[in-house]
Amino acid sequence: MDPQTKSEPMRVLVTGGSGLIGKAIEQVVRNEGGSLEGEQWTFLSSKDANLVDLQQTRAVFEKYQPTHVIHLAAKVGGLYLHMKENLHFLRDNLRINDNVLQTAHEMNVTKVVSCLSSCIFPDKTTYPIDESMIHNGPPHNSNSGYSYAKRMIDVQNRGYFEQYGRRYTAVIPTNVFGPHDNFNLENGHVLSALMHKTYLAKKEGKTLEVWGTGTPRRQFIYSLDAAHLFLWVLREYNEIDPIILSVDEEDELPIKDAVKMIADALDFKGPIVFDSSKSDGQMKKTASNAKLRRYRPDITFTPLLEGIKKTCDWFVNNYDIART
Ligand code: NAP
Ligand code: GDP
Repeated sequence: MDPQTKSEPMRVLVTGGSGLIGKAIEQVVRNEGGSLEGEQWTFLSSKDANLVDLQQTRAVFEKYQPTHVIHLAAKVGGLYLHMKENLHFLRDNLRINDNVLQTAHEMNVTKVVSCLSSCIFPDKTTYPIDESMIHNGPPHNSNSGYSYAKRMIDVQNRGYFEQYGRRYTAVIPTNVFGPHDNFNLENGHVLSALMHKTYLAKKEGKTLEVWGTGTPRRQFIYSLDAAHLFLWVLREYNEIDPIILSVDEEDELPIKDAVKMIADALDFKGPIVFDSSKSDGQMKKTASNAKLRRYRPDITFTPLLEGIKKTCDWFVNNYDIART
């Protein structure tokens, strides 16, 4: 029986608590009534513990004695950082994930919710992709290191269940965006990097340069919507098998449409060019949210334009503290 259903309230440790998704979960927990009475929530950054290091991982678990873990910490980046550092993505993430899962097991943590990604799906596949298909063939070579490391979380979760009866699971968000994202021009994900580029192009009266052809398609989920779903998974989802957290398939759109929304949100009226000499990455990775909808027929998602507008507003108002 889970501690949260007994008298003892949860002590939740969120690794990667200072990042895009961690900050969104913190917002829901601290300001939107997402925490129940008596629960303790700790949001970690890499300054609290470098989770690549086993001793530091054990020390931070010893310190906070979690009953539950939301495991977000990872080496994360956009397409162009992956292409430069595939090996580092593989090695850092393999270590972080093994350190966190094994330490959670050794310290008798009741539940771990880890985070996979729709980037890890097979490159050659039928669509839509569902939860049963993640291991059906190699991932796109642009981010193979990250993808194989993430896929191993799912393999490990099954192992902890089969050998020890542990209920460690994972979610599979599609492309996430929102306040507190990494807005770095070179290394960020597409929406955050383009928000920053658009902001600068407007300020400097220059052309907005979008990398790639703008034709690849993506499903974007607003970080606060994802955060609410993480809390639901932590409290109520009891499968070991992962679950996709995504907007509907019809909401998938080409990058060029999202660029228009960013330009509108930031009132950028200058020229926009597409640099087709830069990689497009995976052309699409259409994910099915049918499983999520079976569990949660009630859910609604923030419309993309609204989420982009809120994120652009946050970025402009927090330019000094934003990760750029
Ligand atoms: P993010 O904003 O880049 O945040 C990464 C977090 O991980 C930060 O809190 C960072 O701490 C921490 N971290 C990185 N290396 C660490 C280390 N060696 N030791 C301890 N902590 C470390 O990333 P995010 O977008 O929120 O992603 C969170 C999770 O969601 C990741 O597992 C990612 O793979 C997954 N995901 C993200 C997306 C997306 O589109 N963003 C989509 C699907 C899945 P510092 O702040 O101290 O650096
Ligand atoms: P992905 O969804 O895992 O491929 O990762 P990204 O969030 O990095 O999105 C990559 C897609 O956005 C590719 O099709 C890129 O060509 C396109 N894109 C356009 N401009 C940019 C940019 O400035 N940064 C990034 N990361 N991607 C861009």
